[in-house]
Parts: sequence; C-alpha cells; structure tokens
Amino acid sequence: LSCTELTQKYIDQIESDNARLNAYVNVTPAQALKSAQEVDKKLHAGEKLSLLEGIPMTLKDNISTEGIETTCCSNILKGYVPIYDATVWKTLKAHNAVMLGKTNMDEFAMGSSCDTSCFGGALNPYNQAHVAGGSSGGVASAVGGNLAVYGLGSDTGGSIRQPASFCGLVGLKPTYGAVSRYGLIAYASSLDQIGPITSTVEDAALVFDAISGKDEMDSTSSGARETTADKLNGDMKGLRIGIAREYFEGIRDDVKAALENAIKTYEHMGAEIVYFNLPILKYALPVYYILACAEASSNLGRYDGIRYGYRAQSYNSVHEMICKTRSEGFGAEVKRRILLGTYVLSSGYYDAYYKKAQNLRGTIVKAFRSAFETCDIILAPTVPMTAFELNFTAKDQVETYLTDICTVPINIAGLPAVSIPCGFDAKGLPIGMQLIGNTFCETTILKAAYHYE
Ligand code: GLN
Repeated sequence: LSCTELTQKYIDQIESDNARLNAYVNVTPAQALKSAQEVDKKLHAGEKLSLLEGIPMTLKDNISTEGIETTCCSNILKGYVPIYDATVWKTLKAHNAVMLGKTNMDEFAMGSSCDTSCFGGALNPYNQAHVAGGSSGGVASAVGGNLAVYGLGSDTGGSIRQPASFCGLVGLKPTYGAVSRYGLIAYASSLDQIGPITSTVEDAALVFDAISGKDEMDSTSSGARETTADKLNGDMKGLRIGIAREYFEGIRDDVKAALENAIKTYEHMGAEIVYFNLPILKYALPVYYILACAEASSNLGRYDGIRYGYRAQSYNSVHEMICKTRSEGFGAEVKRRILLGTYVLSSGYYDAYYKKAQNLRGTIVKAFRSAFETCDIILAPTVPMTAFELNFTAKDQVETYLTDICTVPINIAGLPAVSIPCGFDAKGLPIGMQLIGNTFCETTILKAAYHYE
C-alpha cells in the first residue's frame, strides 16, 4: 500500500462517515494527498521512513495551521486563516505527517461535550446517541471512528483525557511545559497543554516524543528529555500505585468497579498499592473554574473585530463595533465564562475569589508533591461516568462542570496524566482510568499504561 493509497482510504472514509460523526469541521484532502505524494517519492527512492512519516492524522481546530482556516469552532473566528504554524504542527510536518483536516471542539475549548461548537457537536463512534466528549471531541470521534490514525488535542481541564475516555482511546495530557503552546489559541494559558489522542499507548508515546521539547517561541516550554516510546517494556514489580480515596467518592458504581478491577490487575503484576487521603481535592473544581475563567476573560479580549475573523456589519462607532462583534460572534458559554472571569478579577472581588484560588493552587501543588513521596503514580477515574447522552449539557450547566472533577486537579498542579480504557458500561460505552505522574514522569505513566493495555 502506498502512502497516497492509504491517505485516499482515509479521505473516502471521512467522506462516508463524517456526516454521521461530525468529527471534522474542515477536511483538507488536496493538502493531505500532496504530503502523501512526497512520502511516496521518498519510498520510491528507497529512503527509510521514520515511524510517523506518512501517517494520516488530524489537529483540533484551535491549533494554528498556516494557510488553513482555524476557527476554534467559534463564529468570531470564522474565516480566520493563520499566517504561521503552531510549533507542534511545524514539528509534525517535518516528520512528513499527513494532515487530513481540522477537527471539532467546544467553542474556544470551553465545554465537556463539544456541543458549544458553532458546527454542532461531534458524536461518539460507539453510539451516536451519545457525545464524543469535549472539548477535543472531534479528535476522539475521528480517531475512534477510524477517520484518522491519531490526533492532537489540547487539555486545560480534561479536554484530551475526557473525550479519550468516552471514546475508548488513549489520551495523554503532558506535564505543563513539556510541549510548546506556541500557536495554540489560548483558553487559560497557565493550564493549557497540547497532547495526543491515539488508539494505543505506544502511539501516544511516539507522538509525545516527537512533539515535546524546548521551543524558543514558548518561554514556558522546557528542555529536551529522554524518549518514552523505547522505554515501555520492563515490569511493574515494585511500582507504587497511589490511590487517593477522595477520587472514588461520588463516582458511578460501574466505573468504580472497573477501576477496582484495574487495581487488582496491577497488584497481580507485582505493583504495590498505597492508599492515602487528598482532602484538598474538594477545592480543585472551584479553583479551576475561577482561574480558567479569569485567564479566558483576558485571553479573549483580543477578539475585537479588528484583528481576526468576524466583524459586525453595521455600527456607528469603534466602541459599538467591538460590542456588536463580540455579542454576535461569541456563543453563550464563552460569554458566561468571560463574565465570570471579569467578575472574579474585578477590584471588589479579586481578593475573595482570584487571590484565594491562586493560594489554593499552591496548596494543591504541594499536596500532590507530598503524595508522590509515597507513590510513583496515582490511579484515578478519568470521569465519574461514561459518555453523556446528547443534550446532557443543556439540562444543567453546573452538573456538567462537576463532571470535570477528576481531570482538573492535574492541570492545576501541572502534572502529566494519561487516560486509558479499562472496561465498558452496560450500554457498551467505554470506561476510562487515569494514571497520573509526577512532573516530567511521562515515561512512568506510559509504561504502566502499556502494561495494562
Ligand atoms: N471541561 C473543561 C472546561 O470546560 C475543560 C476544558 C478543556 O480542557 N479545554 O473548561
């Protein structure tokens, strides 16, 4: 099979299945075939290919792609074509990756079911009466539905891990700073991180190895580290797996049972299970929503109708143009978060909300640091349940926020975590578990994930 033939197969598959899954919001077959032909030229010349070369993949639509529309699935960015590539995409291009198109997401990555997308939500490949998750729902729907081999998403509070969990896939949220954020359209800069969604742990390790490392263009990125993909073998003997009891409170019974099974499996492999309490976890959700909204309200200030995408049609002054552009261009959830963010940052409330949340963030970081003195990884659910039915969000917004309870602490603490499948519910929907590591210990969690797989 040539790379062009492989790419054509994926394009055909997208043609036949995307209407059902709504995974892609922009398919770029001409570019994909052009990249594939380049790889075939190398093959014909007898050159050796690296592992990611010629592999058809996708990017979440908040990762900037030069010359290809990048919308964050928001009306305010419709028609915006970046003039530069995100570093991750530049890197993968250097690996001759074949990008099939850009995938669906919650508007500006704010949400947990992809239904705040201006293109409508992405559906679950297992059962289309359920969501693919969010905010990187499109990547998960595409990879789970065989419309791409792998994809890159972004994770601010769970957006890689939660859709991976809902679609029975592997989702890696790397340590904050492990992967460059240059060219990732910001939601909450101190929490955002790019990572892969794949079908196997080995694939996740390979993609992570390719995209991680220091980037001059992102001062929060950090230096080159050891590779992970070549270190997945070995055994689990003596690995100390931490269980924080709080993570298992209030989760659905079948999810709990699947996790307890996984714990037993690790015990059989020779791992040592260490139980402890992490009472600070109960503050993670409010801390996350205060910090994420505060940062978002600042980051989204740049959409003023002057620099990017959409501009209101009629106005009498610059001020009115900006107001109308933002009122018409942003969806309801984005507006809600901008309002919440400006509220917690306003002078009368700054100390009561934002400052308190920042202080608590420090306490959460310390709590995880001391937990990792007694264990090597922490095992937890990814989400307290399985994929929501369509329109779950519409019923109750706060209930949706609450479902992020297991994923947000990791972003607050800047830690790496991988979600892998660990069973199915009665409806046949996948259940996910999270393996959380200490900073820059991606190899440790991926190795443990690889052994479970
Ligand atoms: N669901 C969370 C939120 O709505 C996480 C989103 C994300 O990680 N981008 O903020």
